[in-house]
Amino acid sequence: MGRVLVALGGNALQRAGGHGTWPEQVAQMRSTAAVLATLVVDGEELIITHGNGPQVGTLLRQNELAERELPRRPMDVLGAETQGQIGYLIEQELTAALVRAKVPRTVLALVSRTAVSRKDRAFKHPDKPVGRYYTEAEARTLRKRESWEMEYDGARGGWRRVVPSPEPLRWIEGEGLRRLLPHGWGAHIVPVVTGGGGVPVIETSQGTYEGVEAVIDKDRTAALVAATLGADTLVILTDVPAAAVGFRKPWEKWLGEVRAKEMETYLQRGEFGEGSMGPKVEASLRFLRTGGHRAIITDPPSLARAMRNETGTRIVPD
Ligand code: ADP
Ligand code: MG
Repeated sequence: MGRVLVALGGNALQRAGGHGTWPEQVAQMRSTAAVLATLVVDGEELIITHGNGPQVGTLLRQNELAERELPRRPMDVLGAETQGQIGYLIEQELTAALVRAKVPRTVLALVSRTAVSRKDRAFKHPDKPVGRYYTEAEARTLRKRESWEMEYDGARGGWRRVVPSPEPLRWIEGEGLRRLLPHGWGAHIVPVVTGGGGVPVIETSQGTYEGVEAVIDKDRTAALVAATLGADTLVILTDVPAAAVGFRKPWEKWLGEVRAKEMETYLQRGEFGEGSMGPKVEASLRFLRTGGHRAIITDPPSLARAMRNETGTRIVPD
């Protein structure tokens, strides 16, 4: 039995093809929560983190539509808003699932900040698309009026805002939580932390931080959280049962147990989608380098079997 950090992806929160209504999100989280409860029944201490892509997209659009009446809020604030919204949903559904499974815990969502560096090259080369697609004329206006960086997406034939996606350096609230570990909180509390990778902030002087217009990859921050709290297993839950080589090619092969070195070779070869499976594999390898025992990439229906090493991609030390 150990300590497991689970990173919930878009699909664990919101089903593809849905409208993203609140009842839909509740239903989706309810089924994910039932799976997470089985880990606690098996004696694991649980820590949760989650993505926020669709939710931030929605808030950006709402701000845009309302801007004649209400001032726009910056992206760091929107990130914090999604931590509240999704954290609340996880508190509701996971608390209920744990009670039903007869392993009650306090599910505690924290607004979490992640420190990034002003010198990170991502600030010179913003490349993470956020929000909706724009026409060329709109893109020109936004570039001038808002000083947004805009990028053309050939596949979809539209322009999108791109923002920096810097490296997470430190989860600011993590130190305090780490100090509680020897006091046995793991048996009572399921913390929900660094949603959306954490609110990106830059330290301006000791203990003083400033929010920035950026997004942080949630899987990269997950590796940091796992190291901070000493998790032995990192679980990345997404919408595919495993990682594959030759993904969507005739020679596609789903990966089971793979050693870190072999996975590194596949990563270098470009087998994993940039901005999708790539960061998950990178985060897994980082986690193993900082002392993790096992990283699992799978979907919620396969999780229980993946924990028993029967399915999903399990990355293990060399
Ligand atoms: P989430 O939003 O759940 O964090 P993403 O959508 O970013 O996850 O990444 C999961 C997606 O990665 C899958 O739906 C799949 O389409 C894509 N993907 C890219 N490369 C691979 C690969 N080699 N094996 C499996 N899935 C891959
Ligand atoms: Mg996705």
